[in-house]
Amino acid sequence: MTETAIEATALTKRYGRRGLALEDCSFRLPAGRVCAVVGPNGAGKSTLLALAAGLDRPTAGTLAVLGTTPALARARVAHVSQDKPLHPHLTIADTLRLGAELNPGRWDMTVAERVATGDGLDPKSRVRTLSGGQHTRVALALALGKRADLLLLDEPMADLDPLARHQLMGTLMAEAAEHGTTVVMSSHIVGELADACDHLLLLTEGRVRLGGGIDDLIGAHRLVTGPGPADRLHPHTVVESRPTGRGLSALIRPEGPVGDGWDVQEPSLEELLLAHLRTPDTAPLLTPGTAPAAPAVTA
Ligand code: ADP
Repeated sequence: MTETAIEATALTKRYGRRGLALEDCSFRLPAGRVCAVVGPNGAGKSTLLALAAGLDRPTAGTLAVLGTTPALARARVAHVSQDKPLHPHLTIADTLRLGAELNPGRWDMTVAERVATGDGLDPKSRVRTLSGGQHTRVALALALGKRADLLLLDEPMADLDPLARHQLMGTLMAEAAEHGTTVVMSSHIVGELADACDHLLLLTEGRVRLGGGIDDLIGAHRLVTGPGPADRLHPHTVVESRPTGRGLSALIRPEGPVGDGWDVQEPSLEELLLAHLRTPDTAPLLTPGTAPAAPAVTA
């Protein structure tokens, strides 16, 4: 089996008495993947990234990062949170120098400078004078300069205009591919994910709904259209079905060949995600190789 970047087993995080941010999450993310973490607001995406970064501890269950605990993996992990904290009074150049000092032996100033000043930003600009998108650039530059083995990015592109997003995403993907970095990135922008990511984790209400390679997850589903009623789709798992002019349109997980009379197509990533988001009660799916290893049996 390939190396594992993140492995969660029955991972649960509770804030206070009522706030259940993650509940009984189990999944495995192989190393070297670019993984999108998707889900509605409040699904637990930021909590998962913060736990993996070692900023907080699980209430129950376990989370292994790069084969060890999140705390011990911290030197090999870069985390960019949504608020992207930077020192406002420092210049960009000072910020990058601080990055170099805090990451001795690993720091790559060339890539950090390329990302931070890529759109003509003056390295002498102070952080407090930067626009939201420029601030994002510097935060991503710090993360990439660290040459981490695992990048945890919480909605990294939210403040960027489409052109800057496209350019920075390209830089990020090229760096990750060259160095074999695992990237875990939460995002709401499905188009951005379909191009950049090869792995998906869909969370709703703190639980894992889908986990695995995007091609495998798409390949496990079909969009079918045909005359109803819905029980003609037995024994397939119906994720979502809707009446249409011609009868019925459904997203299914086929349990073998789909019978005659159905028009059968592969769903797009967007169709797959939207159907699962609209029907939170469907059984979860982890594709082969993405379920955590069974716990060792102890006597
Ligand atoms: P997402 O990133 O998917 O929007 P979060 O991980 O931020 O979701 O939040 C998941 C749930 O946990 C939400 O209900 C949120 O209100 C709650 N939560 C997150 N952080 C805290 C915290 N520090 N204290 C209390 N509740 C929190």
